Amino acid sequence: MTRLRLAVQSKGRLSEGGMDLLKKCGLRFAYGRDRLHQRAENLPVDLMLVRDDDIPSFVASGACDYGIVGENVLLEKQKGGGKPADLEIALRLGFAKCTLKLAAPKEGEIRSIADLEGKTIATSYPDLTRDYLAERGITVDVVEMSGSVEVAPRLKIADAICDLVSSGATLEANGLEAFETVLVSEAVLIRRKGEGDAEIEAIADILKRRSEGVIASAQTKYILLNAPTDRLEAIKALLPGADAPTVASVAGRDDVVAVHAVCRERVFWETLEALKAEGARAILVLPIEKMLS
Ligand code: ATP
Ligand code: ZN
Repeated sequence: MTRLRLAVQSKGRLSEGGMDLLKKCGLRFAYGRDRLHQRAENLPVDLMLVRDDDIPSFVASGACDYGIVGENVLLEKQKGGGKPADLEIALRLGFAKCTLKLAAPKEGEIRSIADLEGKTIATSYPDLTRDYLAERGITVDVVEMSGSVEVAPRLKIADAICDLVSSGATLEANGLEAFETVLVSEAVLIRRKGEGDAEIEAIADILKRRSEGVIASAQTKYILLNAPTDRLEAIKALLPGADAPTVASVAGRDDVVAVHAVCRERVFWETLEALKAEGARAILVLPIEKMLS
């Protein structure tokens, strides 16, 4: 029977989120994480656990059908040409969000990309960096490093760096300051362009639809509250991303109604405080485990 071969990072930032997503999609695996190859017990899916940098070429060559990889790695490999150029994003997965940024010593004179002309930049993303600057008419020397890029300016290996940033703490700790965003990235599901095998695509469709449900429900909440009847419209207007809340009567009360709503945007404390200020009471925010629409 046909099985879909899916490449996932064996360990690291994409591995956690990737395995978590697959488990929420209902896939069950018999073995621990240390196996190179894992077979899902309840869907025709086989995992190949590899380094993230190898995932685009494994999918491009046909060794795997699909892969979960950072968009940053995908784009870097695609710029290198060859087979990865034939890959496409099947679904954006909403985790491992990070940005690729240009940064330079805080005390130095590099403040914008115009100051980079003729300078040396250390990065693990040489093609993305060079192309981004070339498109803006700036020529630089690129030093490729596979890790610890943030130490390059201190070691006088480079004048500036182009590196992944999430919180900015690593830059800060190394006396660096970001001044330009080259790319905003997240984990993506990739495949070869073109029609593909019908059976594989049918399995992929199940995975994609379930993933969409998992991603949507991650930020979606179910809100329950009691609202004074005369404040109902104001309270409905405050519910973030709610389509059509259910309004039900409360036994023995005609001044209060119960409101139930699926909110498709993040629910902040500020929102709850605003609801309370409008007279809402007994406010409950519940997570939604699964959604299928
Ligand atoms: P491997 O051993 O598989 O080559 P790695 O060291 O290249 O692992 P990780 O550090 O695990 O990779 O990062 C994998 C991916 O996670 C990156 O390519 C990027 O898409 C994303 N990522 C990297 N840094 C961050 C971050 N600080 N916050 C969120 N996501 C990140
Ligand atoms: Zn890597």
